[in-house]
Amino acid sequence: FEAKALEAKDLPAQSTDGFRIRLVGNIEFPEEIQSLLSHGAEGIGLYRTEFMFLDRKSPPGEEEQYRAYRQVLEAMGNRPVTIRTLDLGGDKVPGKGKHEKEPNPAMGLRAIRYCLANRELFRVQLRALLRASVHGNMRMMFPLICGMSELREARSELEACRTELGRAGVPLGKRFQVGIMVETPSAALIADRLAQEADFFSVGTNDLIQYSLAIDRQNRDVAYLYKPLHLSVLRSLKNIVTAAKEAGIPVAMCGEMAGDPVYALVLLALGFDELSMTAGQIPTVKSIIRQSSREDAQRMLDAAMDLTTAEEIERYIRTEMDRRL
Ligand code: PEP
Ligand code: MG
Repeated sequence: FEAKALEAKDLPAQSTDGFRIRLVGNIEFPEEIQSLLSHGAEGIGLYRTEFMFLDRKSPPGEEEQYRAYRQVLEAMGNRPVTIRTLDLGGDKVPGKGKHEKEPNPAMGLRAIRYCLANRELFRVQLRALLRASVHGNMRMMFPLICGMSELREARSELEACRTELGRAGVPLGKRFQVGIMVETPSAALIADRLAQEADFFSVGTNDLIQYSLAIDRQNRDVAYLYKPLHLSVLRSLKNIVTAAKEAGIPVAMCGEMAGDPVYALVLLALGFDELSMTAGQIPTVKSIIRQSSREDAQRMLDAAMDLTTAEEIERYIRTEMDRRL
C-alpha cells in the first residue's frame, strides 16, 4: 500500500467528486525539507521555530533566525510556507534548565503568552521573519491564541516591527498572511469572531484535544482518555471550519490528527482546505483522499456524529474505514 501510495505522490490530493485538499508538511528544522519534497509535500503547514531555541545556552539572534527562515523559504520556492512564531514555555523550555518550573506548564506562560511577556525576544523573531519574507511564499501564525486581544496585540507588534524596519530602509516585500493556531476551546468557540481578523486558521489538535478533554498530553496516566473522535472535539472542528468558510478564510489542520489515515475522511468531510503532517504520512493520506468521495465521507461523518461516546464513534469510523480501504 505504502509503495503504491508513493507512486502517486505528485498527483493532487483530490477526491473522486472533485474536492481538493492541499497536503503539506510539518518541520522542526530546515534539514527536513528534502524529505518533505520527496514525499510530495505541496508546502509547509507548520514550521515549529522554537526548536532552534532548545538545548542551547543563549537564544539565536536575529541574523541566525533570518538565515534559517530564508533557507526554508528558498528551498520551498513558490510553495506556501507557514511559519509559526515561538511556542516556548509549557513542555518546551528555552536554554539549559535555568528556567523556573511552573506548577502547571500547559496552562502557564507559553506560546503567544510567553512572547507577549518577553517582548524583545518576540520582536527579534518578528524582525527576522519580516526580513526573510521577501525570499519566498511566507505566511505567519501565532500559537495558542485564546481571544481577540492576543491576536490584536501580536499583530500590532508585527506592524510596529514592520514600520521600524521600513524606516531603516530594509526591503520587506509585500504583506503576507497572518493567521492563528486554533488550539484552545475558547478560540474554537469564538472562531466566527477571530475569523474577522485572522487571515487563516490552522487547527492544532494536539492542544485542542488536551484542553477540551482536560487531559495533560504529557501524562501517561490519562493518555487512554485522549480521543480525537470525542464528540466535543468533532463539534469544535465543525464550528471552526464553518466559521472560516463563512468568513471566507482558509482553514488548515496541523496537529497529529491531520496525518493519521484513520481520520482522513472525517477531515475531508469536515471541509479542511489543507492538512499538514510529517513527510512519511503524506502519500498514504493522499492515496485515501484520491480514492474517496466527499459526499460519501460526509454521510459517514453525519452518522458518526449521531453517536455519543468516543468509543462508539471510534469503533464506527474504524469499521467504516476498513470497509472502504
Ligand atoms: C498542536 O497543538 O496540535 C500543534 C500542532 O502544536 P504543538 O504540537 O507544537 O503544540
Ligand atoms: Mg499546539
